[in-house]
Amino acid sequence: MVVRDISFSIAGRLPIGGDAPVIIQTMCNTSTDDIAASVAQCRAMAAAGAGLIRLTTQGLKQVESLRLIKQQLRAEGILTPLVADIHFLADAALAAASVADKVRINPGNFAKQHEVACTKFRELIGLCRQYGTTIRIGLNHGSLGERITSRFGNTPLAMKEAVMEWLRMCIEEDFYQVVVSLKASNPLVMVEAYRLLDKAMREELGCRFPLHLGVTEAGGGDEGRIKSAVGIGTLLAEGIGNTIRVSLTEDPVHEIPAGEQIVAAIDAGYTPQGRRTTVEALDWNDFIIKASCLWGPSLLDKNIDDFSLEGSTIGGKPVSAEAAARFRDMLLQACRRRFTAPEYIACPGCGRTLYDLESTFQEVKRRTAHLAPGIKIAVMGCVVNGPGEMADADYGYVGEGRGHVTLYRGKEPVVRYIPQEEAIDRLLALIEADQQETTFCVAGHRFAIQLAEGLELRDALKPYAPFAVPTELSKQPVFRLQVVPQDALPQPDGLTEEFNQDDDGSQIQVCRAPDGSSWFAFSLWGKLSGAMLARPGFDQATLAVATHPEFALSNALMVLYALRTASLQTALFHAAVIGHGGRGYLFLGRSGTGKSTHARLWLKHIPGSELVNDDNPVVRVDADGIIRVYGSPWSGKTPCYKNMSLPVGGFLQLAQAPYNKIRRLRGIEAYAVLVPSISGKRWDRAIADGLHWTENALVSRVPVWYLDCLPDEAAARLSAETLTASAE
Ligand code: SF4
Repeated sequence: MVVRDISFSIAGRLPIGGDAPVIIQTMCNTSTDDIAASVAQCRAMAAAGAGLIRLTTQGLKQVESLRLIKQQLRAEGILTPLVADIHFLADAALAAASVADKVRINPGNFAKQHEVACTKFRELIGLCRQYGTTIRIGLNHGSLGERITSRFGNTPLAMKEAVMEWLRMCIEEDFYQVVVSLKASNPLVMVEAYRLLDKAMREELGCRFPLHLGVTEAGGGDEGRIKSAVGIGTLLAEGIGNTIRVSLTEDPVHEIPAGEQIVAAIDAGYTPQGRRTTVEALDWNDFIIKASCLWGPSLLDKNIDDFSLEGSTIGGKPVSAEAAARFRDMLLQACRRRFTAPEYIACPGCGRTLYDLESTFQEVKRRTAHLAPGIKIAVMGCVVNGPGEMADADYGYVGEGRGHVTLYRGKEPVVRYIPQEEAIDRLLALIEADQQETTFCVAGHRFAIQLAEGLELRDALKPYAPFAVPTELSKQPVFRLQVVPQDALPQPDGLTEEFNQDDDGSQIQVCRAPDGSSWFAFSLWGKLSGAMLARPGFDQATLAVATHPEFALSNALMVLYALRTASLQTALFHAAVIGHGGRGYLFLGRSGTGKSTHARLWLKHIPGSELVNDDNPVVRVDADGIIRVYGSPWSGKTPCYKNMSLPVGGFLQLAQAPYNKIRRLRGIEAYAVLVPSISGKRWDRAIADGLHWTENALVSRVPVWYLDCLPDEAAARLSAETLTASAE
C-alpha cells in the first residue's frame, strides 16, 4: 500500500508534514485577556524562534482577546501563527476558527455527548475549510472519555482508537489540514500511543497526518528536559513527528531552546542507531538532552539496562562522577527503569493558572524530596483540567484560584479549598499519615487503618495480622478508618436514628447526620465502647474508641467492610464455614440456632473437615465468575482468623427440631434464607441493589439446603453426605 504523507502550510506560510522541518512550538502562560502581557510574551517567544504559539481560549471572550493579540502582533510584523487552545466549549472552537491560524480541540472534552461532539466537529471542519484554519486533534492520556476507557481501558491503545475515530471523520469530510497529538506524562505511554497511531494511519488510513509530539506535565528543570528528550527523541529518531513542544513548568520561552536541542541532537546522530556512542556537549542542558536521545530509547524499550558515560564530555571536559551518577538516576527514572526519587508531574501553566506555578512547584519538590522513590506527586495549575490531566499521580496539588488549593489522593479530592499558605504542610501531613497506615486485604478488598499517636490497640489488631499486606500507594484501599481517642470525635448535631440493634448485651445504634454521613455508636453491656462517623459511600470514617476498644474496632471494621463492599459483588455473612474436599460449606441461622455446634460436629465426625471461619466469613462473586467463601479477621468467640478461600459448595440453613431432616430450597425460599444472614443497610438503595445482585447470583449458582436437626452426629452425617454429593 502506498502511504501518503499529508503536508500543508499553517496560515499559508508554515509548512508542516512530509519533508518539512520539525516545528518547535510553545504556549503562553499569561491570561489571554491580559492583552499587553500576552503580546509581550508572544514577542519574546517569536524572538526566541517559536514556530507556533498557543494561547488558552476558554470561551468567546478569550476568542476576542486572541483577535486583539493577533492584530497587535501582525502590526509589529510578527507573523508567527497563533493556536487557540480549546477545552470544554465547542462553541469557542467554532468562533476561534475565523480568528486563530490553528484550533486545538481535545476529543475527551469537546462535548459531553459523543453525537453532539461529532456534529460540532463537522461544523468546525466546515468553518476551518472556509477560513483556511488548521485543526489539531489534541488528545491527552489523562482526559480520555469514559466511552473509550470502558472499551479499551486507560491505555495507549485507547488513545490511538479515540483519535482514529476523529481522523476518519476528517477523511469523510475530505478535510486534511489536521495535526494530531497523543500526549501523556509517562514517556512509555506516550511513545507507545504514537507508535500505534503511526502504524494505524499507515495500515488503515493509507495516509499519515502530521503529528505534534510532547510529554505533557513533564515538570521542569533537568527532569522535565530529560523526560521530554526521551519521549520526543525516541519518536523523532523513528521518523515520527512533525512539530514538538517541550512542556516545562518554567518561563515558556525556555521551551524553545530545549526543543531545538532535541531536534539538533537527533540530526547530529544521538540516536540508538545513529553514529554516536559518546556525548560531546557544549553545556549541561545540551548534555542531558543529547545523552537522553542517545540512550533513552533503548532504556525505554528495555533493549539495554544501563549505559556508560565514559568518553563523554561537557565543554571539552570529562563528565564528573557526581554529575554522571545524578544523570543516570534521572534518565533511568524517566524511562521507568529504576526509581530513586519521588516522581513529579507538573503542568506548564497557561492562561487558566491563577498562582505562581513555577515557584510553588519548586517548593513542593524541595519539601517532598525526602519521600519514597516513585511516589507520584502532581502540581497542577487549574481545577478545570488539572485533576483529569494528572493521570496516575498518587497525590495532587491543584490550584483553585483566589489563593486556594485542593489536595487530591489519586483522583479524589480529599482536602478541599484550603489557603495556599497551608497547602504544602497539609500535603505532607496527608502523605505522611497515609504512609503510617496499616493495610489489610480481606477477600481481595484492601482497607487501611490509621491509629492516632499514643493509642494502644495492638491486641485488638491481632486477628488482622494474617490479612496484613504492604501499603502500596498505587493500590487505593476501598476504605480508610482513622482511629482517635474518645474526645477527638464530637457527635454531630441533628442526628436521626435509623436502626438500633440490641443483641446479647452488645448494641449498635445507627443514625444519619443532616449532611448524609452515618453515625454509629457501639456499646457493650450498656457502656459506650466507641462511636464512628462515616462519610457517604463509606470509603472514609473516623472511630473514637472508649471502653473495650477491641469491640468498637471490630464492629467498626465489619460495618464499613460490609457496607463499602456491598456494591462490589461481596457479602459479609453471619455463618460458620467448614472446608471439605476443596469446597466451603456455610451454616446459616439466627444466633443460638447451633451453627458453631453443627460445625464442631462436622469437625469431629466428618474426616477431612476444617474450620474456615466461625462467625463472619465473606462470600464474593469473583472476577472469574466463581463464588468463593473467604476467611476473615472476624470469627466471633472462636479465634479462627484464616486467610484462605474455597469455592462455595452449598449453604445450609439450620433449624432446631426433635428429628433430622434435610430438603433443598429453591427460588424465593432459598433467597429468603440468605437475606437475614448477610449484613447490610438495606434501606440504602445502592447497598440494597448491590446485595440483591450478589444474592441472586448465589441462589442461582449454589445449592441452598434446609436442615431440621438435633445437635448430634447423625445430623452432621446427613448434611455432609447431602451437601458434598450435591456440590460434586
Ligand atoms: S492543568 Fe495547567 S496547563 Fe492544563 S489547563 Fe490547567 S493550568 Fe493550564
